[in-house]
Amino acid sequence: MSVTITPPTERTCELCGRVERWDADVESWRIDEETGDVYCIHDWDINGSYAPFED
Ligand SMILES: [Zn+2]
Repeated sequence: MSVTITPPTERTCELCGRVERWDADVESWRIDEETGDVYCIHDWDINGSYAPFED
């Protein structure tokens, strides 16, 4: 399979509005703007369509 996947660089929690941006340097998500609710379990808008740690 030679499927080209363009990973999302931004995700938003549909529950609390937290916004995170993908940092390729550290290969991790970083808070972009809204920190949202720290107790929220976060339901990302990209949930299920992309797994950044899948190899
Ligand atoms: Zn959230």
